[in-house]
Amino acid sequence: MITIPGKMAKEVLRHSIMAPATRNYPFEKMEMPDNFRGKIVFDYEKCIGCKICVRDCPARAIAITKVADKVFEAEFYLDRCIYCAQCVDSCPKGALDTTGEFELAQIDRTQHRIHFHANTDVGNGESTP
Ligand code: SF4
Ligand code: SF4
Repeated sequence: MITIPGKMAKEVLRHSIMAPATRNYPFEKMEMPDNFRGKIVFDYEKCIGCKICVRDCPARAIAITKVADKVFEAEFYLDRCIYCAQCVDSCPKGALDTTGEFELAQIDRTQHRIHFHANTDVGNGESTP
């Protein structure tokens, strides 16, 4: 027969009535803080095409393309992105922002290529290949 020393028995009892220290993920999702560095989003209405974000991105994860006069679209390679948010800090127009989105794993690598369209008729303005 196994005997549990008094001190340990107290600990076992204490932990059996305590709330769990972890979440039942993925069934219970956590609200991320405002400054969480998740997936980057792009607002074509603010972009002036200066490409400072492209220059400053340490992972070469951004491409900016001119699609019309003073209209630019962005492409993000999420499989290269290190979520440092340097592009957000560097953008002089606030056209880039971080989100709380972090569940970005994909089996198909091409799905990591996110195209932010200037034409908002295309879904929510964002698509993958
Ligand atoms: S830094 Fe901002 S304004 Fe300049 S190209 Fe990038 S997203 Fe557009
Ligand atoms: S978060 Fe960092 S790595 Fe990702 S696109 Fe922006 S600058 Fe590049």
